[in-house]
Amino acid sequence: MLKKTEKVKRDLQEEIRAVTTLKDAEQLKIKYLGRKGIIQDFMKLIPALPAEQRAEFGQQINALKAEAANFIEEAIGKLSREAIPKVNNEIFDITLPGKLPLTGKKHPLTQTIDDVKEVFARLGFDVVYGPEVELEYYNFEALNIPADHPSRTDFDTFYIKNDILLRSQTSTVQIRVMEKQKPPIRIIAPGKVYRPDTVDARHSFMFHQVEGLLVDEGVSFADLKEVLNQFIKTYFGKDVRMRFRPSFFPFTEPSAEVDISCSLCSGKGCSVCSYSGWVEILGAGMVDPHVFKAVHYDTEKYTGFAFGMGVERITMLKHGISDIRLFYENDIRFLSQF
Ligand SMILES: [Zn+2]
Repeated sequence: MLKKTEKVKRDLQEEIRAVTTLKDAEQLKIKYLGRKGIIQDFMKLIPALPAEQRAEFGQQINALKAEAANFIEEAIGKLSREAIPKVNNEIFDITLPGKLPLTGKKHPLTQTIDDVKEVFARLGFDVVYGPEVELEYYNFEALNIPADHPSRTDFDTFYIKNDILLRSQTSTVQIRVMEKQKPPIRIIAPGKVYRPDTVDARHSFMFHQVEGLLVDEGVSFADLKEVLNQFIKTYFGKDVRMRFRPSFFPFTEPSAEVDISCSLCSGKGCSVCSYSGWVEILGAGMVDPHVFKAVHYDTEKYTGFAFGMGVERITMLKHGISDIRLFYENDIRFLSQF
């Protein structure tokens, strides 16, 4: 028996010397030390031996097993160490361009809101926020929107129950601020609004608005025009022209819709501007005295203006985005362009 184990040891040493690859060394490990390997076969002989020989033979086998494991691990370790510099020399090419890690970015709508905040901060406006779940009073009544106005039906507003709804405009924040604060007031209120619109390329049941409000003594329409002019020139570029069209909103009088020259075709006419050269970007006007009465402001002393714009809309116009749904799909190919 001793001779047999000695022979196994010699065979193994010879075979190890001949091994040149890691794969062969692993094969050798299986051949000698595996569950069906040569050394395991010796173990199977033990029960058949006379009782007095079993202990000694067992020890020999264990010693052989330990030695074989040592030889093989040493060979594997040596071959692995040799393999590493090979990989470095042959495959690692320092002239290859590196892989840039994916970095996070602000969503394009967040970037627009940040830009808007920055422009108005320079003009002295504070940023305020209001609740998205709102009382009917703040969304309609206090804004001088009559009970029979079509926007108050549940075709145009999400009602939660009775007089509680999801706000359909950020103008609600105006009232909440004026209730707590006396003029002068200069605020913008960005946030989400909700309307039961069918989703298509231009509509979404949720979108973002920025509301602006300025109230003080002696505020005129000219002030409104200049504040919006400053914003438009900064956000869209100094060559962009602006025009006011008379309009109607329940909470402003007089009211206007504000257009800018189409930045995609420079006013020459394209499909985005319906070949008119102009695109509407916001609604604005002088605050209706009825609104001031709701918050107990002296309408003889104070005047003010308000404006509201869609964040998605101005972002789409600035970047030439044709489908509003792109903002909400979280497609990294779209988002990484901003
Ligand atoms: Zn155009």
